[in-house]
Amino acid sequence: MHAIRGIAVSPGIAFGRALTLSSTVDNVEYRTVAPDLVAAELVRLQHALESTCKDLDKLIEDTRTRLGDEPAKIFQFHRSILVDASLLKMMRGDIEREHVVAEYAASEALRKFAATLRAVEDEAFQSKAADVVDVERRLVSALMGASDERLKRLDGPVVVVAHELTPTQAAELHRLRVVAFATDGGGLTSHTSIFARALGIPAVTGCVNATDVIEEGDELIVDGDTGTVIVRPNDEARTHYSIEATRMAQRRKVLHDAAREEPVTRDGVRIELLGNIELAEEVPLIMENGGEGVGLYRTEYLYLTNARAPTEQEHFEAYTEALRHCAGRTLTIRTLDLGADKYTQEHLEEPERNPFLGLRSIRYCLSRPAMFKTQLRALLRASAHGPLKIMFPLVSSVMELRQAKMQLRDAAEELEEDGIPFQRDVQVGIMIEVPSAAIMARSFAGEADFFSIGTNDLIQYTVAVDRGNERVAHLYSPAHPAVLQLVKSVIKAAKHASIDVSLCGEMAGDPLFTLLLAGLGLRTFSMSPSQLPAIKKLVRGMDIGHCEWVARRVGSFESDRQVVNYLRDETRKIDPEALVGQLH
Ligand code: PEP
Ligand code: MG
Repeated sequence: MHAIRGIAVSPGIAFGRALTLSSTVDNVEYRTVAPDLVAAELVRLQHALESTCKDLDKLIEDTRTRLGDEPAKIFQFHRSILVDASLLKMMRGDIEREHVVAEYAASEALRKFAATLRAVEDEAFQSKAADVVDVERRLVSALMGASDERLKRLDGPVVVVAHELTPTQAAELHRLRVVAFATDGGGLTSHTSIFARALGIPAVTGCVNATDVIEEGDELIVDGDTGTVIVRPNDEARTHYSIEATRMAQRRKVLHDAAREEPVTRDGVRIELLGNIELAEEVPLIMENGGEGVGLYRTEYLYLTNARAPTEQEHFEAYTEALRHCAGRTLTIRTLDLGADKYTQEHLEEPERNPFLGLRSIRYCLSRPAMFKTQLRALLRASAHGPLKIMFPLVSSVMELRQAKMQLRDAAEELEEDGIPFQRDVQVGIMIEVPSAAIMARSFAGEADFFSIGTNDLIQYTVAVDRGNERVAHLYSPAHPAVLQLVKSVIKAAKHASIDVSLCGEMAGDPLFTLLLAGLGLRTFSMSPSQLPAIKKLVRGMDIGHCEWVARRVGSFESDRQVVNYLRDETRKIDPEALVGQLH
């Protein structure tokens, strides 16, 4: 037996046999044809391109109907590669000059393109390289008359194990009996994760070496709640996970029932529970899980699913779609949080040496006024169709907030001049995710309509620990007393200025911190939709008087271990099952 730890990206426990998938075609052999057959190779290439485009058209339509617009855009990008003039010129040129066979010319051109993308030190570009490899697989398969027959012949519960699942593979898999995904690469926003969540099956990404350790046909257990893959489980593990799966199913049922109840504490204090989303179509998921609106809409996703920057109209359509789903409920839209780990290095002449401390988030937007204006105009135009709030990420000085608001005013003036309707009193808030902003919260409170505390970043900047670096992951703790002091002072500053404050980092959806945060005065929590029922159940069992007492006690601790141990005990007193499936 062997346990692989990865990133939990789609919840649930599944049992099945491994099907290992390669996301690439084997090396295409270098072969040439006689000069009089060159024309025939060009025709063959043309036919393969046309039939692959046709397949993709069908897949785009199919995916749109089943999974929505965003996943379908991935295949639109694939289709755009197949009609890219420079790539086609390269393929045809190789056939004409070197007399190579069409599959070799196609593979070479696409591999070079993928290598160029991979060379850019940026996750977004690297994930686009995976798309190009997927297109290569499709086009070469069309030329060689091959298709992934194994995929189509699958039977029995199957866990798909791949280095990184290509979108084509993920989309084809839904018809088959695939019960889970496990991949070497990928994070929360990889294609595998998007599709797993859309399909509602457990998935673990970032397993690093799953494809080396796992053999085809191996018995596997995938735990999408803790991010664990058990390879060739022994009887003990089998029994443990069967019990766990039953327990989780029961727990889900209890939570599902709780999701319908009001989020009110035993002593009558109402807690607002909101959801974090990346795509507009995720809004209904929040309501299904008992949430009341959107506390964080991460709009940079519009860039990830597009081969080019989204237009003002595309921004506008995404926001109005979210408004439609929200139907008057809270909708907090964060302006683009590009940079650092989120796909911007390609726009810089030289990659940054330290991108987490570099031109990211609001700084990046302010340095690209035209791009920022596109989003601000779309946001304002959308505001005429329903209530929305605008939130700026990673603000670190008051001047930055003023500049951002000035850009927003400019956008508003333009719309005014053009007679385009928009809401004049849109609320404008900031994320507090940098220690300087937390320390200066009182000053910010005079200029922002609301705060949302982004603990994911606030923790990394407070304790100097890269949130994505597994070597220092043990030092990344929301329970660090310094982090808690900052959170406390931000809540206090907001209360003092009578502005709204919420918390939208992962900490908001972690039941370990619910009592403490409520005790510090937090009344609005925004989290991943799947966490809403568990937090609501806890809220309904707690008492604000007790929470305040807990918060005072925590204030006297000097280490995160002490905080975690104490909170664990206090939380279990309220709901013994509250921490089931959590990582501490
Ligand atoms: C945060 O930093 O806490 C946050 C919610 O933003 P993101 O995770 O998108 O950086
Ligand atoms: Mg952040």
